[in-house]
Amino acid sequence: MSKNYDVIIVGCGAAGLYAAINLPSHLKVLILCKRELSLCNSSLAQGGIAGVYNSPNDSIQFHQNDTLVAGGFKNNIDAVHTLVSEAAQDLEKIISLGVDFDKNPDGTYHRTLEGGHGHHRIFHHADATGEEITSTLLENVRTLENVDIAENTLVCSVKRTSTGYSAFTLCNNEYSTYNCHFMILATGGIGRVYEYTTNSAIATGDGICFAYEMGAKIKNLSYVQFHPTAFNNKHTRECFLISEAVRGEGAYLLNCHRERFMHNYDKRLELAPRDVVSHSIILESRKQNSTEFYLDISYKDSDFLKKRFPMIYEKLLEQGYDLTKEPVPIFPCQHYLMGGIDVDNNAETSLPNLYAAGECSHTGVHGGNRLASNSLLEALVFSRHAAEDITRKLDSCPKDFEEVQFSSNTDHEHIPQGFRTETRRIMQNSHFVIPDKNSAAEGFRRVEEIRENLLSGGYYVDAAYVEAKSLVTVAYIILKDVIR
Ligand SMILES: Cc1cc2nc3c(=O)[nH]c(=O)nc-3n(C[C@H](O)[C@H](O)[C@H](O)COP(=O)(O)OP(=O)(O)OC[C@H]3O[C@@H](n4cnc5c(N)ncnc54)[C@H](O)[C@@H]3O)c2cc1C
Repeated sequence: MSKNYDVIIVGCGAAGLYAAINLPSHLKVLILCKRELSLCNSSLAQGGIAGVYNSPNDSIQFHQNDTLVAGGFKNNIDAVHTLVSEAAQDLEKIISLGVDFDKNPDGTYHRTLEGGHGHHRIFHHADATGEEITSTLLENVRTLENVDIAENTLVCSVKRTSTGYSAFTLCNNEYSTYNCHFMILATGGIGRVYEYTTNSAIATGDGICFAYEMGAKIKNLSYVQFHPTAFNNKHTRECFLISEAVRGEGAYLLNCHRERFMHNYDKRLELAPRDVVSHSIILESRKQNSTEFYLDISYKDSDFLKKRFPMIYEKLLEQGYDLTKEPVPIFPCQHYLMGGIDVDNNAETSLPNLYAAGECSHTGVHGGNRLASNSLLEALVFSRHAAEDITRKLDSCPKDFEEVQFSSNTDHEHIPQGFRTETRRIMQNSHFVIPDKNSAAEGFRRVEEIRENLLSGGYYVDAAYVEAKSLVTVAYIILKDVIR
């Protein structure tokens, strides 16, 4: 594999793959992926992808309004406009690449409803939309001769050079350096900073940490979304998500007395945006002094439910619950990051020729709370913008590559055990659904100490070190944001 590339993309989820597809075929592109190609948040997406495309009763304006309302009007309105008005273009493109969305008997696309949406505008592939999109994009990328993919290759750090950027990687105990003129960070979310999350194991915020260390602007990192209906099995870190679409199809939320309670908190009931629903569950939990909550859709036709939610139905059955017959235990948990590496409308960060796309980026489209199914759309629209901006700049970029040195510290100690666990506990106690400023201030002091230790300790650079440093850096920026 070559050492020098026009473009390096860090991440192989929806954002990274779609960026590669949209780059011109004469560019040499490398995609780096720290674990197996299928392990990412994109593959886990269930509900679908929002967009107004051949929808006579819906409009871009309605989609824009719903996005702004859900985001508490903290959104960047220009970015929102870009997102909703370009949705049709990217939906059409991924359909042409082979993505198979569910259809009605008359051949039109079936669009479902999710919390916060005023219209049925969510395109989906049963309840496994992310898997359908990422596997199709990957199949397409594999056919591109100009794109190399390095699986199980962890980026340990990134440096800015006089000719672009360099990535220091670790694969099978071997370190390498790859150079490029343009870099796109598409490293996904930060869920693993929490004790309980719906996110996959890769979601440790590495890209945000690299960007922060290079001096790029990070924005609104404390805007973390907690999904109200994760399956309540508090024995594993990764909580199985029960999609918003289940409430979209009519599921009720019940408290420990098996009574509906959302009418006490919001007139939109179970279809209020997810921050409102999560908040209501925590308030009801305090009122009832119980964390026992349920999602109930058992009153609906069982054949319909099995067809509409085959994956959720099977997964819950494995856990001993039949959603067609009984209420299922749920509780909120960490789900998504609205903030991130700040980017402009071209997905460029505050550093030249460094781009960020997907969940690690902050485009401003989500404001204080993401509207359901807008994130896959954001990953597509803005990763395409990154590819288009790079294409426009090609003539002015350097032709050579500067070589820089990285240190692996392989003769140094491994990091001590426990830093990650402690950081997760701090985040779960201080910045969960309803943040606690006192715990955040106390937590910040400890996280700052751990971070200084990691930065100055000269530890052996391996996955444990890289991910611990990312988690701690993300927690540090979030808590700093909360207490300031
Ligand atoms: C359970 C669940 C359900 C969801 N449902 C929906 C939904 O229905 N609709 C919707 O719009 N959104 C949904 N989302 C959110 C959405 O899936 C994500 O926000 C989006 O897919 C993120 O895509 P991405 O490309 O930014 O990141 P990811 O898909 O997470 O990809 C990140 C990539 O970065 C790589 N990476 C990270 N760090 C490094 C490193 N140091 N070195 C090398 N590689 C690295 C990873 O290996 C991975 O390939 C859901 C999320 C979850 C967790």
